[in-house]
Amino acid sequence: MGSQDWIIRADKVVMQTYGRQPLVLVKGQGCRVWDDTGKEYLDFVAGLAVCNLGHAHPDIARAAAAQLEKLVHVSNLYYTTPMVELAEDLTRLSFADRVFFANSGAEVNEAAVKLCRKYSRERYGEERYRFICMENSFHGRTFGALSATGQRKFWQGFHPLLPGFVFVPFNDLPALARAVDDTVCAVLLEPIQGEGGVCLPDPGYLQGVRRLCDEKGLLLVLDEIQTGLGRTGELFAHQHFGLAPDVMTLAKGLANGLPMGALLATEEVARAFVPGTHASTFGAGPVIAAAARTALALLSDPGFLAAVRAKGKYLQNSLKSLQEKFPVIKEVRGLGLMWGLELAREGAPVVNACRERGLLVNCTQMNVIRLLPPLIVSEPDLNRGLMLLEAALHAVFP
Ligand SMILES: *Cc1c(COP(=O)(O)O)cnc(C)c1O
Repeated sequence: MGSQDWIIRADKVVMQTYGRQPLVLVKGQGCRVWDDTGKEYLDFVAGLAVCNLGHAHPDIARAAAAQLEKLVHVSNLYYTTPMVELAEDLTRLSFADRVFFANSGAEVNEAAVKLCRKYSRERYGEERYRFICMENSFHGRTFGALSATGQRKFWQGFHPLLPGFVFVPFNDLPALARAVDDTVCAVLLEPIQGEGGVCLPDPGYLQGVRRLCDEKGLLLVLDEIQTGLGRTGELFAHQHFGLAPDVMTLAKGLANGLPMGALLATEEVARAFVPGTHASTFGAGPVIAAAARTALALLSDPGFLAAVRAKGKYLQNSLKSLQEKFPVIKEVRGLGLMWGLELAREGAPVVNACRERGLLVNCTQMNVIRLLPPLIVSEPDLNRGLMLLEAALHAVFP
């Protein structure tokens, strides 16, 4: 049974929602994965910013396995100890006082929409329920999250969407201020747009958004699903900008590959959720929570985060040098270990050329090569990835 046979079988029975790379992966370890032919790849996608501590992390595997043998699931009708400990860890490490757990990013963004609407209605009245979101944003594929996503292409075929979402350009404070009226309850945005092409906030922009929210009594909701959990060199990206949101969503890297999402909020806002207002059958199951606790302890270590920042600087300098060699690279953007190379041409051939050489990278928005290496990446592995990327660029743009 070769890779091609698996691909043919998959394409017959799996819904065709993804443009998958023609790779059948069977094993991972640290920054590397292997396909079913035994070929090794350096993984600079990390499960889309999920496996921040690398593949098959022994501590996380041990924590999950121990919990698997003890208690797997009882539902949220009861208390379980890993859930309590994880919520304590997350609140100790963040601005938040309370946490709600679910299983994915989209799901916690849904929960954020419900929480903000309920809080704002109870406080200000029935008409206050609209969200200001950003053009080019990404918040997930379920209806609420999709309705908050400012990219038309994801809406195609799914109308009517959830009402109550308006869009303004990212990095445009005056447009945001103009969009505010008495019906707006919250501003929802990613501190750095990930899927949108690794778009960074201009200096002072996020602080300006915070100030505007304070002046107008709006909730600031940060979607840190991709930027959170150490990806940018701080545990949460907003910490780079000296501000805190009222509500934040996390998922991707939270349990290093096991599915978990978390909605975090201040006491004041979180009080709007009371028994019966929201729920998740699997939320914070003991196995996932035990894995997440272990991951969070490693990711939040100040020395670990300092190393991510140092590696990020190194990657930044290396990518800027690469840009000097290849005029096809229009812009190099990023923070920590989240980087995008905007090309003047389509990125897919570069992704393919990298893969052929044993390097996995992602392309978003057709022309932005996105690099999301595991945060544990060593300098030799960073260099190897850069060398393979350069070889791929040479091959595609000789
Ligand atoms: C990936 C992502 C989501 C969606 O998360 P899922 O777990 O796929 O539902 C939402 N917001 C951002 C910023 C993301 O990067």
